[in-house]
Amino acid sequence: MSTFYIVATPIGNLEDITLRAIRILKEVDLVLCEDTRVTKRLFERHSISTASMSYHAQSGEAKVDLILEKIEEGKNIALVTDAGTPGISDPGSVLVSKVREKFNDLILSGDLKIVSIPGPSALLSALSIAGVPTHEFVFLGFLPHKKGRETLFREIAESDRTVVFYESTHRILKTLESLKKINKKVTIARELTKIFEEVLQGSAEEILKILTDTPEKQRGEFVVIVSN
Ligand code: SAM
Repeated sequence: MSTFYIVATPIGNLEDITLRAIRILKEVDLVLCEDTRVTKRLFERHSISTASMSYHAQSGEAKVDLILEKIEEGKNIALVTDAGTPGISDPGSVLVSKVREKFNDLILSGDLKIVSIPGPSALLSALSIAGVPTHEFVFLGFLPHKKGRETLFREIAESDRTVVFYESTHRILKTLESLKKINKKVTIARELTKIFEEVLQGSAEEILKILTDTPEKQRGEFVVIVSN
């Protein structure tokens, strides 16, 4: 019997990892990482010396086949991504789907388990400190850059639910410009758990002014929340 662990890792602060995650990362035969340099820092911080191999969005069929072979051999494997919970807006879900597809019989017979080791996710961290309605929310991942973008903003404007999405430093101003046309509360959570962690809440116009007046606040990783 083998186990494929999907392990959540920190979204910035290297202390944000569970005891179980550290134990599993030490015990498995192999850790699949989105970027081995990022995971190396985590391994050094927690004295983990398990063998690692890269698996990322550009990994081709040959890499996937190699991983599937190792699972078939009975190896215990853990998957981590650069930040947070694998599978949430990162390449994790594609691999999990391939494992489920190929080994459905082994999973049904209990000879292969796919196990979640829960932990941080930028989405939930941001929602937990925003103070907005969360009994229902819609998560959009990364917004499309071009096609479908305006339609999404119209849907956000009309939604009764809190809407959450991820945004990069390159597009945060553009996104706030689009949100200016929508009369809703906007929260941006930047660099959560890191040195320059900051949450700004107000109208899109107010936040845009703060970011334009202080360009260093445009840097880093963002979660954007739009609520009623
Ligand atoms: N799987 C991750 C998770 O569970 O949150 C998300 C991966 S996605 C490729 C990366 C995006 O998540 C970033 O571009 C940013 O929008 C958001 N993100 C990740 N870490 C963050 C942080 N510390 N603060 C704010 N947003 C963050």
